[in-house]
Amino acid sequence: MAAVDSVLIVGAGHAAGEMAIALRMNGYAGAITLVGEEAHAPYQRPPLSKAFLAGEMPRERLHVKSLATYQNANIEFIPGVRVTSIDRIARTVTLADSRTLGYGKLVLATGGRPRQLSLPDPRINRAPNLHYLRTIDHAEGMRDQFRAGNKLVIIGGGYIGLEVAAVARKKAIDVTLIEALPRVLQRVTAPEVSAFYTQVHEAAGVRIRVNTALTGFEFDAAGSVTAVLAGDGVVIPADVVIVGIGLIPNTELAAEAGLLIDDGIAVDEYGQTSDPDILAIGDCTSHESVYAGRRLRLESVPSALEQARSAAALLVGVRKPYHAVPWFWSDQYDLKLQMVGLNRGYDTAVLRGAPANRNFLAFYLKDGVLLAVDSVSRPQEFMVAKKLVAERLRVDPARLADESRPLKELLPPAPPAS
Ligand SMILES: Cc1cc2nc3c(=O)[nH]c(=O)nc-3n(C[C@H](O)[C@H](O)[C@H](O)COP(=O)(O)OP(=O)(O)OC[C@H]3O[C@@H](n4cnc5c(N)ncnc54)[C@H](O)[C@@H]3O)c2cc1C
Repeated sequence: MAAVDSVLIVGAGHAAGEMAIALRMNGYAGAITLVGEEAHAPYQRPPLSKAFLAGEMPRERLHVKSLATYQNANIEFIPGVRVTSIDRIARTVTLADSRTLGYGKLVLATGGRPRQLSLPDPRINRAPNLHYLRTIDHAEGMRDQFRAGNKLVIIGGGYIGLEVAAVARKKAIDVTLIEALPRVLQRVTAPEVSAFYTQVHEAAGVRIRVNTALTGFEFDAAGSVTAVLAGDGVVIPADVVIVGIGLIPNTELAAEAGLLIDDGIAVDEYGQTSDPDILAIGDCTSHESVYAGRRLRLESVPSALEQARSAAALLVGVRKPYHAVPWFWSDQYDLKLQMVGLNRGYDTAVLRGAPANRNFLAFYLKDGVLLAVDSVSRPQEFMVAKKLVAERLRVDPARLADESRPLKELLPPAPPAS
């Protein structure tokens, strides 16, 4: 590959920050520019629904690297401005402040935004106590209302909703969570794991209402939500509402430039889009997954970082395909949930350990082959489970459940040292 004189990265989130630093670590000597819509240098979002929301982590610790690190690496960082269009012929982008920047290679790392409620009431978006959670500004915007005794209603029983519920209970906030589906975490876990988390949250005082559709809100004269209206005419009083109903990938910039979109910005295992001069990484992309045998769009830090590293390698001429098995984590109360693989289509789920002990594993198999594992507070066995899923282990479910025999005995023998 011919040397590229400049790399322009659109978005300054977790993937973008990693990409910029990885380029320098790979010896890339050309110009690197990061343009981000947010006012902040690249930061980690996971603590926004965990330690940062709880007030246990200062803002500085959210940042992946200090500003000085980017300066010392000669990476130009342009915060607080949106890229509004791409001209692929001229190889330029236009910013919202009308500036135009050229690029040798362009990297789109535009992430995603929270899915909005689809109710047609215009008061919803103006209500000062109804929040989504994706950014530092969102988290800081809800802090004042996140206080003991307030009534919080959470819409959505996915990871973010449940993590917020756990933090809120620690702060003695009164919490009701409504979920439209029959169980929490339904899209990602087995019924046993959902039942475990439901029981943990209920024991902590969270009222969980499943099979419950949101039908509307009541507002006071100032425009604040005072109650959430749910199916069956239920009225749930609310001082604050947090909505966690999923993510929309930010693909519009790429789509308007004519790039191929397939759920996310379509990329190959190196982050290459349908334009040879444009790469894309992180939550905004979908990639052909060798592991899944289909195109996947993931929303997770590990995949954003791995994709960034593959793309950074490609730009210095090193082919390092992104083929990782997806994995994810979620912290709720004292519990660490870690998940590897995708359980879609599983025909057998088997537990190792008892949920009553607050640490166990759930294995998902299809036709005898291990597809995915959820681990609740068993980090060491999870490390083994990651390797077993990557191996597509064919295994007797009873062997997985047998706690008298270590999981690591199922690993294939290491190749002899050469
Ligand atoms: C509350 C919360 C908790 C999470 N918890 C976990 C967890 O426990 N484990 C886990 O693995 N993952 C977790 N995630 C997901 C994880 O944070 C994302 O997968 C990760 O941030 C993806 O990084 P990214 O760089 O692709 O996108 P983002 O972090 O979304 O960054 C994209 C950036 O691009 C900017 N941008 C978009 N369009 C433009 C434009 N046109 N011009 C300029 N800038 C633009 C955006 O403003 C944003 O700053 C969590 C996410 C949230 C919100």
